[in-house]
Amino acid sequence: MQILIKTNLPEFQNDIGDVVRLFFGEGTAIYTGDEENICEHSHSEQAGNWTEQVRFVLDGRTVEHTLSEPAAGDTPVEHKRLMKRLTKRTVYLALKAWTGRVLPWGSLTGIRPARLFRQQMDSGKTFDETVRQFRMDFDVSPERINLITEILEAQKPYLLPEPGTVDLYIGIPFCTTRCSYCSFSSGEIGDGHLVEPYLSALLHELDAVSDLVRTHGLAVRTAYIGGGTPTSLGAAQMDRLLSALFRAFPDITELTVEAGRPDTVDREKLTVLKQYPVTRISINPQTMNDSTLQAIGRAHTAQQCIDTYHLAREMGFTDINMDIITALPGEDLSMFEHTLEVVENLSPDSLTVHTLAIKHSSKLHEQRYEQRIDEMIQQMADKSRECAHRMGLRAYYLYRQKYMASNLENVGYAGPEKICRYNIDNMEETASVLALGAGGISKRIMGRDQRILRAPNVSNIEAYISRVDEMIERKAQMLSYAG
Ligand code: SF4
Repeated sequence: MQILIKTNLPEFQNDIGDVVRLFFGEGTAIYTGDEENICEHSHSEQAGNWTEQVRFVLDGRTVEHTLSEPAAGDTPVEHKRLMKRLTKRTVYLALKAWTGRVLPWGSLTGIRPARLFRQQMDSGKTFDETVRQFRMDFDVSPERINLITEILEAQKPYLLPEPGTVDLYIGIPFCTTRCSYCSFSSGEIGDGHLVEPYLSALLHELDAVSDLVRTHGLAVRTAYIGGGTPTSLGAAQMDRLLSALFRAFPDITELTVEAGRPDTVDREKLTVLKQYPVTRISINPQTMNDSTLQAIGRAHTAQQCIDTYHLAREMGFTDINMDIITALPGEDLSMFEHTLEVVENLSPDSLTVHTLAIKHSSKLHEQRYEQRIDEMIQQMADKSRECAHRMGLRAYYLYRQKYMASNLENVGYAGPEKICRYNIDNMEETASVLALGAGGISKRIMGRDQRILRAPNVSNIEAYISRVDEMIERKAQMLSYAG
């Protein structure tokens, strides 16, 4: 179905489209053309009141909804934000009536709902008032409010600002094959000819960043080596990277290395990781069904994940994360439950449950794969939450993305001593980060209002190699900016 959106507030057209897409999927909201399925929205303002009227005619069936509220907002920005929120709620309630469906996050389309909840409480609202607001303003379900509550509780000890500290992100943008849902800028490693020049550029950037950190009197607190697949580096290359990292920053107290693809991990590489204070690794099955692994372009089996996990445990890794994905193509509830059963038997220290999102740069999008919007996806999310709880894990961070199946979320679960602080910092944007390597985005959190200054690295691998000095200069400028 395609729905033509008409509104007397053209600047809200896309926001109305976002809510339409929550119900009907990507590509359903259109803004020009001739279409029998229509959404008509009008905004009016009278005697200090806003009135939003929405009328849908879909498949010949009409539904209307009107909401009226006192105009609000102390600044033009706040004014517009609240007006937009009311518009989206009106559209959402009309579609809820038309479809008979209640969405887990209601009309909320933002990517960091836990942060929004915390901001409301920081602004002086009580917990109960914030819950009421989430229920009333967005129609967020009680289950999602429980999820947020669990996360806020877990995050409490980690949110105190630590001035003078930064996190470090190091990107290794190579993978053995490309997953069909991948939207990252990673390249297939191919014959590996770019790996050495890339590593040289990265080590050069690391050296320069170490100087910058010293010059600005900073300390690196946590570090994360992600990608891509960092373990697509050879053992000797990984050794060079880690020795340079700890030479530059000997005081890092938390370091995650993603060992995402089990076909890139062996005893030799794990031995290298063990020689350094690597605190956490991530072995990512995504699914424990071989037919799906093959269909989504991952060149390994479920058994390889299990074997790699056992090997890492046997070698003394005491903090292992696993990533899985709900709504993968072709998977039904029983296949997903099989994945959960295998993961539960392994009992990782943390579990990250992603909901499939079809990004525009993915192969699935190219193949015009249609995102799934059905009850089963929500059941998968619910089952994974139950599974995490049975393993003694609790939710500690959450984020949402556009184009996610059934308007759900990604959730990180961990045992109490196994929370990855870097993940909280990254998702809640509570700490500055210096990001090294192709595609990394450095952020500096500034001042009491936590304004964010960004310095992106180019994502093309060859461009990164040839322009690494420019990437260093961008970070230097970001750190020197006086505000
Ligand atoms: S392992 Fe991750 S980065 Fe690599 S292709 Fe798959 S999704 Fe992309």
